[in-house]
Amino acid sequence: MDRGNDEPDLAESNVPSSSRGIGAPPAGNHGLTVEQGTLLTETLSPAALKRLYMRYRGTAQIRETRHGLWLALVVYLLFGIADAMLIPDVAVGTITARFSVAITSLIAMEVVVAANASSKWSDLTCAVTVVAAYLAWLLPAMKTEVLETFRFYMYFGTIFMMSANLFFNLFFRLSVATSAAIMLIFFTSLAYAPTIGSDQLMVHVLFYFSCFTFTSYVNWKLNRERYNVFLNAREAAQQHEESEKRGAALERLSNTDYLTGVDNRRAVDKRLRDHWSNWQNEGTSFAVMLVDVDFFKKYNDFYGHQAGDRCLVMVASALSDMLKPLNATVGRYGGEEFIVLSRVTGREQVTALAEVIRATVEDLALVHDQRRDGQAVVTVSVGAAYTRAQTGPKLERIINEADRALYSAKANGRNCVRLFDPNDPLSSDDNENIAATLRMAIRNDLVHLVYQPIQNMRTGRVEGVESLMRLKMIDGTPLSPGQFIPVAERTGAILELGLWAIRRACTEVLAPGLVPLASVNVSAIQLKSRGFALAVSTILEETGVSGSQLAFEITEGIDMEGQSDVIRCITDLQALGIRIWLDDFGTGFAGLSWLRLFPFDTVKIDRSFLQDARRPAGRAMLEDIIRLIRNRGLKILIEGLETADHVDLMHELGIELGQGYYLGRPVPIEEVRIKAVPRLATVVSL
Ligand code: C2E
Ligand code: CA
Ligand code: CA
Repeated sequence: MDRGNDEPDLAESNVPSSSRGIGAPPAGNHGLTVEQGTLLTETLSPAALKRLYMRYRGTAQIRETRHGLWLALVVYLLFGIADAMLIPDVAVGTITARFSVAITSLIAMEVVVAANASSKWSDLTCAVTVVAAYLAWLLPAMKTEVLETFRFYMYFGTIFMMSANLFFNLFFRLSVATSAAIMLIFFTSLAYAPTIGSDQLMVHVLFYFSCFTFTSYVNWKLNRERYNVFLNAREAAQQHEESEKRGAALERLSNTDYLTGVDNRRAVDKRLRDHWSNWQNEGTSFAVMLVDVDFFKKYNDFYGHQAGDRCLVMVASALSDMLKPLNATVGRYGGEEFIVLSRVTGREQVTALAEVIRATVEDLALVHDQRRDGQAVVTVSVGAAYTRAQTGPKLERIINEADRALYSAKANGRNCVRLFDPNDPLSSDDNENIAATLRMAIRNDLVHLVYQPIQNMRTGRVEGVESLMRLKMIDGTPLSPGQFIPVAERTGAILELGLWAIRRACTEVLAPGLVPLASVNVSAIQLKSRGFALAVSTILEETGVSGSQLAFEITEGIDMEGQSDVIRCITDLQALGIRIWLDDFGTGFAGLSWLRLFPFDTVKIDRSFLQDARRPAGRAMLEDIIRLIRNRGLKILIEGLETADHVDLMHELGIELGQGYYLGRPVPIEEVRIKAVPRLATVVSL
């Protein structure tokens, strides 16, 4: 910043409509207004800087100049009394002159103000007023006969000089020009002054001249000081503005998702807390919607990560554009998961908004032909929850509810919307207890296995057992797998429990040779988890069981998206000699493609087909399925044999393996032992 420049002069100012005048810098942040602040980021040339100074000084100062003029004129008029006392013979003339000047300049100033003219004109009015006031008094006063008094009275001319230099806050050149004019008028008047001696003349000249010099010097210093104040204020304002901008940019950055540009997790959490406290304090309800891109991993694997990123960006911006007018916000909550927060409440409204969200993404029509559910475009599943009286005192609760709803949407085939249902037993409070129980189940002996025989329908021999998990709560209440397996899968507890089940089946029934084969149910999550096959091989080694004695039952599940991991894992397991069975065939949408993808050993047909087989159409369906599996050269096991008729049907259809209550209920290890021991000796069925 160039501080070496002289303070700018009025003559250099081209600022059209701003004003300036007496007084300190205008009030406000560092003395600079916002409008001026916008100019600050540029590095300004000295001329531009001076123009800015004009504008800066001009703000609100025309008013002060006007007030100063009023005050000065009042004093000027009051001096009329001095005229009457000191030079009474010409007082009428001087007082008349005083009034004429005062009225004229007041009118001039009011015109300037009314015309909203620049401060250049108010300053000029002041300068002209000072000169005119002096001249108007001097001319009639010089005619006085009271010479002795007048000679001293003339010293008051310096007051005009001082007012130009010190009282009115005029710019240096204008004030010097004004006071110089006063001095010249005075010197000129001396030539006409009657009877003045050379000594007196010298005193007058010296007095006026020194007065002119000193007040001009002080004026120059004052103006310089004011300019420096301006520069300092400008610098401070610039720093302030820059730091505010930096702060705002940082704030924006720290709240924005780097990829999609929508709110990031941090911003979402803050928004959530705000919504939550509004709900708690004022009862303003809101809804939370979790939006998950369906089969995104597959999309990423096939189309590449860049395309995956583009997909997320497009989904995010489509949602953001759609939600803005609805007063809702979207943020990125995780990899391919978005979260929408909205003030919308009530079941219908929430469902409607969730449906619009789903449709918006589907309408983007982003090609995704790698999914195996018949759709060919990118879609989302939406899980929604909203504040209800029962939501309870914790914020996490509503997220948890939305998460459960999302899970349910995924489980229902994706590209759909689910609202959290507090009456759904799977989303009840009990789940919290179940999750807690699962965490300590193994340590506290709350979990055990039961075994259900699998029978060869042709020979009647038990070929193996299916191991099924049982869990009881701390108070002894038993829980069915249908209740706790989904919770274990959601919380990840299934990883530890699953390995525990494999180990337990190995040690309880396989190592002692109670049955030739045991099957264990394995969740998709386990197959996806790192090192699963390695952990299984360790178990086989430690228990001394051969992989060929073990079968894993995999449900054609809802969560088989990451096929490459799963395929790798299954291949590793097969290398250990473990057989892979496809469980619950016909209940999920991916069954057929699974059959094509994996070399399954056996397919377990879900018991619902058996129940349907009572009707001709159901039976035809069952026969079709059996044919299809046989064509692929796979073994068939039918579950849910509950009656003798079912067994007859098995024989009719030539099914080799069966399982069901009619053949044997799941029993604890003690009962397996009792039944198995004589059979091992005599080789009869279990
Ligand atoms: P699933 O694998 O289809 O297991 C067969 C289920 O059908 C068992 O229920 C069994 O008790 C029942 N069942 C057997 N015979 C009959 C019959 O004749 N009629 C009827 N109505 N039902 C019969 P359970 O034990 O309640 O298990 C339910 C599901 O829980 C299992 O279905 C399986 O998907 C899961 N599950 C059980 N144990 C485990 C485990 O250790 N790990 C994993 N990941 N899942 C398990
Ligand atoms: Ca099973
Ligand atoms: Ca099954």
